[in-house]
Amino acid sequence: MKTEDWIKNFERNLPEGFPVVAMGWPEAEYGICHENYINYCSDAVNETPDGESVPLLPTFEEWKRKERGEISYDLGFSQDYCDTCGSLPGIRYAATAMPSDLADKDYVALTVCEDCVLYIANGETPVDCED
Ligand SMILES: [Zn+2]
Repeated sequence: MKTEDWIKNFERNLPEGFPVVAMGWPEAEYGICHENYINYCSDAVNETPDGESVPLLPTFEEWKRKERGEISYDLGFSQDYCDTCGSLPGIRYAATAMPSDLADKDYVALTVCEDCVLYIANGETPVDCED
């Protein structure tokens, strides 16, 4: 495949109206939100054995900091084709497509292959492309 065709294919596969792509997902995609914090606290209270004190609970900020530490862009092996280039199943990474107006908080979470990660991060196209 020619480099320009690879790039056209990548851009054609982006969701319409979401031309800006960045690595990673917004925190909510990883479940880092107030609702899950409340669920975490609620579970800790509900699982306290009879007669024992509830555990010391983290603040929302402390909980978010801990959860952020467990975020990985590497999503592991997937049977799905790459969202942007359509390559065969393999290791997938988290990426996000956003509207050109970044004040618009709307986004589409993508799972992409390593070739697409390099293109998103550095603009590098796959080495097996021809010029
Ligand atoms: Zn790809």
